[in-house]
This record gives sequence, structure tokens and C-alpha cells, in this order.
Amino acid sequence: MGRYGDLTGISLEEALSRINGACKDTCEEMVVPLGEAYGMITSRDHVSGIDVPSFPRSAMDGYAVRASDTEGARPDRPVPLKVIDEINAGEVSRFSYSEGTAVRIMTGAKIPEGYDSVVKQEDTDQGTAEVLIHQEISAYMNYCPVGENMASGDMAVPAGTRIGRIEAGLLAGCGFGEVHVRRPLRVGIVSTGSELTRPGESLAEGRIYNSISYMIASSVRSLGFEVSYDRLCPDEEDVIQGALLEALDASDMVITTGGVSVGNKDLIHGVLDDIGAHKLFYRVSLSPGSPTVFAVYEDKPILCLSGNPFAALVNFDLYFHEAAASIMAAPCLKLKREKTIAGAPYEKVNKMRRIIRGRYEGGKAYPVGKKNRSSVFSDMTECNCYMDIPAGHTLSAGDAVEILRFLS
Ligand code: AMP
Ligand code: MG
Repeated sequence: MGRYGDLTGISLEEALSRINGACKDTCEEMVVPLGEAYGMITSRDHVSGIDVPSFPRSAMDGYAVRASDTEGARPDRPVPLKVIDEINAGEVSRFSYSEGTAVRIMTGAKIPEGYDSVVKQEDTDQGTAEVLIHQEISAYMNYCPVGENMASGDMAVPAGTRIGRIEAGLLAGCGFGEVHVRRPLRVGIVSTGSELTRPGESLAEGRIYNSISYMIASSVRSLGFEVSYDRLCPDEEDVIQGALLEALDASDMVITTGGVSVGNKDLIHGVLDDIGAHKLFYRVSLSPGSPTVFAVYEDKPILCLSGNPFAALVNFDLYFHEAAASIMAAPCLKLKREKTIAGAPYEKVNKMRRIIRGRYEGGKAYPVGKKNRSSVFSDMTECNCYMDIPAGHTLSAGDAVEILRFLS
């Protein structure tokens, strides 16, 4: 029994709740220019200090009028109005409304005081001193009111949000030149396995290329985080321990791959024990990847994945997102669990709860690939979700099923 209770045979939900409890919000706040904030996580609420727009503006190129002055206007009986000024976007008229007048106005310009609508130029003779209005209009036509996009005091972007293109636009629209964000998470990767070779090098007999660290590094970067350490180690305890300590030093969180099982060269448990890391769990009742270990060393989480690529990816997705969400105080980083229905059957009965590859399309989830072997991941390009199959269950088309959608 460890300090978190039983370390083995726990459910996925229990594993996630232990991760939540153990991962502290450790990525401090920093201020960055808005232009560099894409993909970062806001550390504070960003509330608009202004109305956007802060003045009523024209939605058309045309003439600012008072709608009541256009009453009865028709192409065969146009209404003449005196043009008293002409303004482009960014310019402000010195004039305000007087009866029977219009102001020539371009899209985006401030509608002068007292006018309540804009007649588009196609509905006029485009006159300069006097304009003939061919179309009666109603008040507030082609008129963008103050605060149409956002009012002063409105939440532009709440804390814990990932800044995407819409958030970047909203922050810009309110005039935030700088934004308060969390320092991007630094993730260290330690790949273990004496059979592993770096892509680009020649492959000796019996060896394979390291593929997982590239998947993990890509996931980390796609979330806007930094790969702060990346090292390939042979199955030698002292080398792995040295790399793990260096990785911990350089990172907020470390991912290791390989060596978590029960083989002769499965050294991760020993290394974690030697450095004095506290294990949260090491056997979750879930396939693939039940040997996954999650430990904490001086408040830094260590996620130790099996070396089988599919198992590694599933378990990375399940646990890394949960940990990152706690460290960055950003629930948006969690995988989204949704209830849906199966579009096709899954017939294998598994003793353990199983996560399989899926494709969510047109409101239904379809199992992808024939094998579902944890060493195979070539079919993952078709996946956009995982399907969560309870122990002892199969799926028929039309059955309810829960899915976890990929974030990217
Ligand atoms: P292990 O978890 O060390 O028992 O490895 C399980 C399987 O995954 C073995 O077939 C390893 O050769 C393979 N494997 C381990 N690490 C990697 C890696 N980084 N990339 C691809 N395959 C790996
Ligand atoms: Mg190994």
C-alpha cells in the first residue's frame, strides 16, 4: 500500500483523480506581447475595458441620414438631401444632424451625431452637393451600434483558455497589447530501450527506430508546450537514472517510454525507487498500457509509458492531458469525453476495459483498424478519437458508447 492507497488494480477514474490531486499548478504567470501569445494559456480573466466598437459606425459605403427624412423615397420619386460633409473610415465629422441633410460616409467611419442610419450608395445617385435617395429606409439600417461586438466589462477571454485565432482576435479588438499567460509547460522525454536507433542512422539487425518520442514531442508542441529534454537511453539503470534526473531538472514534467513491464530489462520501477519518486499508481485496470506508472518527484510528475507505440500514445493522451490541465490550471487541456453511438460493431470480448481506435463522423463512432494491437499504429492516421469499451462488453451498431476526442 503506497501513500495514495493501492497502487495497482485501480480504475481509470481513480488514476485521473490521483493525478489531479498530485499535480500542482506550477507554471508561473508571465506577460507576453499579444503577437506571441497564440497557443498559450491565459492565467487571468481578460475583461474588455472598452466598448467594441466605441462609436456607432457605418456598415456600408453610402450616406448617413435620418431614416425619417427618406420617407416615401422610390426610384421614380427620389428624395433629395443636402450633402454637408464627406468622411472616410478613421475620420470624424465636425457636423451633426440637421433636417434634410446627409453625410457621405464610408464603411467603418463614425456615424455623425443625430443620424440614425446609412443608405447604401447603390440606392442613391451618388451625388456630391445633393444626393437623390432612391429607397426609403428604416432607423438603424446599416448602423453598427456601440459595443456591438463586445461591451466594456464583458469577458473577452477567461483564465485557463488556450489562445486560438478567435481569442487572439478578441484580445486584439479590446486593445490588449500584452496578455497574461502561463509559462508554457516544459516536458522532458526519456526514451529507454537498447534496441532503439535514432531515425536517420543505419539500422543494425534486431534494432528498431525510436518512433514514440517523435509522437510525444509532436503532441507536446501541438499543445503549445516546449520539449525541454529529449534523450535516448540504452537499458542500463545508471544511464536511465542520470537522464531522468537531468530531465527532471530541465522540465516541469517528464515522460519516459519503455521498461515498465516485468522483463529482465524493465528498469523503470527500480530507477523511480532509487531516486525516491512517489508512485501514484502502476497498474490501472485498462488495456492497452496497464503497466503505465505515474510518479511524482519533488512536485514534478513522471509519466512512465510502455514502449508499445499504440499503448504509449493512448496512455500519454489519457494521463498527460490530465496532468497538464492541473499544472496549467486549464481544464480545456483535458480530453473531451462524450457519449455517442457506435456506427459499426466491435465484437471482441475483453476481460479488461479497453480503449480502441475510433473515428467519429456524422454523429457516430466507428472502430478503426482490424488488429487493435498495441504495437501497431499505422492505422492511427484515420483516427480522431478513442472508443472506451467496458470490460466484458462488445458493441453492435447503434449501441451507446463513450469516446474521447483528440484535441488536435
Ligand atoms: P518495453 O515497454 O520496453 O517492454 O517495449 C515494448 C515494445 O515496444 C518493444 O517491442 C520495444 O522494442 C518497443 N519500443 C520501445 N520503445 C520504443 C520506441 N521509443 N519507439 C518504438 N518502439 C518502441
Ligand atoms: Mg524495453
